[in-house]
Amino acid sequence: MKQFIGETNITNSIIGRVEKSNPESKLYYIYKNKCEYNKDTTYFLYDNSKDKINKNKNYFKLIGSSLQIKNHDIVLIQTSGNGTLLYENGKDDNTLIVTHNCNNECIMCSQPPRHEEDNYLSMNLKIVNLIKNQPNYLCISGGEPTIKWSDFIKLVELVNIKLPLTNVFILSNARVFSEYNKAQMLAKLAKDKVKIAVPLFSDTDDIHDYIAGIEGAFWETVNGLLNLHRVGISIEIRVIIMKQNVNRLSNLIYFIYHNFPFIEHIALMGLEITGNAKKNLNDIWIDPKVATSSIRNAILNANRRNMPISLYNFPLCTIPKYLWKYARKSISEWKRVFLPNCNECKVKKLCCGIFNTNIGVLQKNINPIL
Ligand code: SF4
Repeated sequence: MKQFIGETNITNSIIGRVEKSNPESKLYYIYKNKCEYNKDTTYFLYDNSKDKINKNKNYFKLIGSSLQIKNHDIVLIQTSGNGTLLYENGKDDNTLIVTHNCNNECIMCSQPPRHEEDNYLSMNLKIVNLIKNQPNYLCISGGEPTIKWSDFIKLVELVNIKLPLTNVFILSNARVFSEYNKAQMLAKLAKDKVKIAVPLFSDTDDIHDYIAGIEGAFWETVNGLLNLHRVGISIEIRVIIMKQNVNRLSNLIYFIYHNFPFIEHIALMGLEITGNAKKNLNDIWIDPKVATSSIRNAILNANRRNMPISLYNFPLCTIPKYLWKYARKSISEWKRVFLPNCNECKVKKLCCGIFNTNIGVLQKNINPIL
């Protein structure tokens, strides 16, 4: 999430939605509850604003930041002057984090589990209540969001009620859904608006479990996938490509075809080098050029079986041209960078860019397409 800093006189942290005081102004009100001026209203101010603020009232003055706050965004402002952009109005890639903990310990996890108690339920419910315009998509993630089952279900329930036009995209390892009643419970709440994206690393339990860091994870995920299908929830399978599984990508496609022919989409994904991926880089990193022939074979296998497949997180110049049509602009704007020489590149508009954490490793592979 995007962070910002400012100067403030507030004495309690607040979560609120920003509303322009008038269309021309850079002065925003922050509404904690209803969209009307009241004593709970706090001022929000850009550092270059010409608006006068009354420092006897609550205020937050943004300093030293290029962050663009937009009308109807939702922010967390702390008494220390730290701020977080919790929700961006008009975007379809906003994520609500249920917990930072997880029941896997994946060797390439970009946000490793924190192993400490956390509680984001009231913040998440507040965000959903404050959303002004219903987005097309809202993502629910973690950690592993389903391990805090009651928080997860309450959140899905509220999104379903408050944002009936919004589709919910859940990122989960699906192990919890090896319990059929939990898959059923989710389906009862929001079957038609939920899609779940599940990482499956290999067609063999030993490789999957090694990557997931938990013995038995493979079979729970497999059973979870089957149960989710039984209750009618649509599923995407995500395969993060690394040294351990690159040579079995085609086998994995066969496995998915034979066991999960109902899968809506398969995403083959490049690593985001942060967290455990950074720590274990030497053990897991595979240069995109070396991975190309395995990726190509996997895609051909999927095509022959009429299974929709895409490539996420691969800058176009790191893969051969015949794979470009599968590459998606998958990297969130706030994590994505382009190098200065990308400006010369003919395909920049079609390219996903580079994770800002991957520059050091990928830089040598980035060559503009002229
Ligand atoms: S040079 Fe930059 S914009 Fe062009 S394909 Fe590579 S990463 Fe993308």
